[in-house]
Amino acid sequence: MPSSPKRFIIIGAGPCGLMAAEVLAAAGHRVAIYDRMPNPARKFLIAGRGGLNLTHSEPLDAFLTRYGAAEDWLAASIRAYPPESLRAWCEGLGEETFVGSSGRVFPRSMKAVSLLRAWLKRLESLGVTYHPRHTWLGWHGNALRFTDAAGQEVLVEANATLLALGGASWPRLGSDGGWVDMLRTEGVEIAPFRPANGGFMVPWTAHFAAQCAGKPLKAIAATHAGTRRLGEAMLTQQGIEGGVIYALSAGLRDAIDTHGETVLEIDLRPNMTVDALAEKLGGRGSKSLSTYLKKAGFSAEAIGLFYETTPNRDLSPHALAARLKALPVRLTASTGLARAISSAGGVT
Ligand SMILES: Cc1cc2nc3c(=O)[nH]c(=O)nc-3n(C[C@H](O)[C@H](O)[C@H](O)COP(=O)(O)OP(=O)(O)OC[C@H]3O[C@@H](n4cnc5c(N)ncnc54)[C@H](O)[C@@H]3O)c2cc1C
Repeated sequence: MPSSPKRFIIIGAGPCGLMAAEVLAAAGHRVAIYDRMPNPARKFLIAGRGGLNLTHSEPLDAFLTRYGAAEDWLAASIRAYPPESLRAWCEGLGEETFVGSSGRVFPRSMKAVSLLRAWLKRLESLGVTYHPRHTWLGWHGNALRFTDAAGQEVLVEANATLLALGGASWPRLGSDGGWVDMLRTEGVEIAPFRPANGGFMVPWTAHFAAQCAGKPLKAIAATHAGTRRLGEAMLTQQGIEGGVIYALSAGLRDAIDTHGETVLEIDLRPNMTVDALAEKLGGRGSKSLSTYLKKAGFSAEAIGLFYETTPNRDLSPHALAARLKALPVRLTASTGLARAISSAGGVT
């Protein structure tokens, strides 16, 4: 226990604020969390809807490269609390974890609900208090200024304040970036928010969108500017999203910002060489191209994507195999910050 416990205020009850609360309270400090929303961790719960991806199982040096330019300043923190520690923490809350086929790590339940429930219980047992429906508006002298559910001003003092206000994606879940001007006025340097881990617009034909929107492309690889990622993508009415797209999204976004559009290559058989795939395809005989591809194990949406991106289909088995391993998909815009999984930018 510290010789003189301090009173900490954490603003923001997302995973960042909750984790900070746990560390501070476990070290013997008094912690109160304030959030504008009625319930904590709304975005964390939504994150668990499609399978909560906690971390990745790859070796740490490779993992760190995923942080791009932020690796320089984040590496020390991540080395101090590496993915195994996060898994152990999750398992300590009663949620076993597992490594998916893409190497990503998930809780066995795939969801955030039971993890959050156990986490909030732990925080309560550590004496952390939660103050919902309090919107932070800035400072009044040394005090923090909030409005409560009744619209009344509330002033709160603490030894230290930790801002865990999130970014600006999915604003209806609480983080709308409304704090940017307050901090800027105080001289804090802030980079504009941009979508990260988001989807992209693709000018699909109406026929393809009607046939394939909402369908997944499983066990594919996507390559952009020399970076290749394995995983899944989801075809949408307007374009494409999902794991492999998110993994490449910073580079895709920057390329579109610079050139107006960019091309992503999709490999439908990432674990086969062109030669092996050509051999598997074999002779087509009198079969239609669709039947031929179906017989070789391609899904309807994979075949749809091949048709959508390949105007000249009069190809030898070898050229066909090469094409199926490099379908060019033209991305024309990001689907925007409000729909992105997370935000780039913020306090520099
Ligand atoms: C659809 C979806 C799927 C996702 N999937 C994953 C995934 O699988 N794996 C993963 O790691 N991440 C995923 N994420 C991202 C993840 O949810 C976020 O990165 C994470 O929630 C960020 O945590 P945070 O604590 O920094 O911010 P947030 O979770 O955004 O929390 C910030 C909190 O601050 C509060 N707040 C903001 N301003 C104020 C104010 N002025 N006064 C009071 N309170 C305020 C907000 O109400 C909010 O509760 C996903 C996100 C989405 C939308």
